[in-house]
Amino acid sequence: MTAVTAAAAAAGANHDASPAVIDRTGALSILARCDELAAYSTLPNGLIRRVYLTDEHRAVNALAAGWMREAGMTTWQDPAGNQCGRLEGRTPGLPALLLGSHLDTVPSAGRYDGILGVLTAIAVVDRLNTLGIDLPFALEVVAFGDEEGTRFGRALLGSRALAGTFDPAWLDLTDDDGITLRDAYSAFGLDPDALAPATDSALFRGAAARRPEDLVGYLEAHIEQGPYLEEAGQPLGIVSSIAGARRFAITVTGVAGHSGTPFDRRHDALAGAAEIVTLIERTARDAGLIATVGHLEVFPNAVNVIPGRVDLSLDLRAASDSDRDRVWTEIDAAMTALCSARGLTVSVTQTHNAPAVACAPHLRAAVAAGIRAATASPAEPLLLLSRAGHDGMAVADVTDIAMLFIRCRGGVSHHPDEHVTPADVAVATDAFEAAILSLVTAAS
Ligand SMILES: [Zn+2]
Repeated sequence: MTAVTAAAAAAGANHDASPAVIDRTGALSILARCDELAAYSTLPNGLIRRVYLTDEHRAVNALAAGWMREAGMTTWQDPAGNQCGRLEGRTPGLPALLLGSHLDTVPSAGRYDGILGVLTAIAVVDRLNTLGIDLPFALEVVAFGDEEGTRFGRALLGSRALAGTFDPAWLDLTDDDGITLRDAYSAFGLDPDALAPATDSALFRGAAARRPEDLVGYLEAHIEQGPYLEEAGQPLGIVSSIAGARRFAITVTGVAGHSGTPFDRRHDALAGAAEIVTLIERTARDAGLIATVGHLEVFPNAVNVIPGRVDLSLDLRAASDSDRDRVWTEIDAAMTALCSARGLTVSVTQTHNAPAVACAPHLRAAVAAGIRAATASPAEPLLLLSRAGHDGMAVADVTDIAMLFIRCRGGVSHHPDEHVTPADVAVATDAFEAAILSLVTAAS
């Protein structure tokens, strides 16, 4: 008997999984489903880009819903376009342990970031349903529709709606084609006014926003998006906390002019912006946190015109909000001084501010127990800070969260080369199942 089946027996499993279920919830099936979802993309040549409230979003929700039903869940799409599935506990209507991740992607994405977490969750519910575990809570899988923020420039729209922290002002956000989020919801067949937190408890199952008393917690499995598990030779790790991120839109304004203008008469916005990019890198590196300038737009962007304006983005993240905010103050002051010395002006708008989120100790302990059971190792699993944002950051506003990290090759993600091995997916699925069983045992 494996450690996981021993845990299942302890939790009251009354029969074994059939060969069909073992096959359907195995690593190769999970990876085949990742491949199937990867085909739903707006990019040609096998590249993946799948964004919120599009035909591709609708298609992957339908596929996921089918797999959820096959796993014994009832399914619905919530008012934010999140695909949900629910397996009742020992009596109907019990608070739910949420399991989830997201099905949207960045442009030129890999096929596992978010997707693997959703499919692992479905597989685990499938197994527990088939095993006939006596569940002291319901299990729900949530496939979030927007985590990456690719289409509307604001991340975590799906999970914010679930957490009841969706700001109605976001309905006026627009995509690159000028379509508002409000119109995109309507075109998708959703009612944008249903996104506010529900006040009528009878409506909670139909509304996006959940109430804390209806939830037991939230667990998410996700690829690491970092090199530490690979370096340590470990397939799985536990997340200690998710780094807080702030994002800024920065505009440097100078004076456009003919490229024949002498240097002492120029106010070159791009030369200033270039200095800002290296200033940001240097300051963040010295402070031991992470900063990225990933977007740069030059105006008028012509070969014989001195750039008059540059728009750039900054993404700043750290384990501690106070470290991050202190470094931002430092960057802001140095940037202003640098621009003033060049006769440029700089303006800044904050576009995103998410505090660091700590994973709940009791859920972390359950994930650790799951990893120990699945790897048959008594060693304490690796504890990792997540430098990437995740749906859990938003969900933490409504319930406790914890995360299981899965080794990915070279730590590469947000790239077509994203890769996981079947062996790691197999052990991750077993660990996720065992983590839930440990919560079942604790609550029984
Ligand atoms: Zn992700």
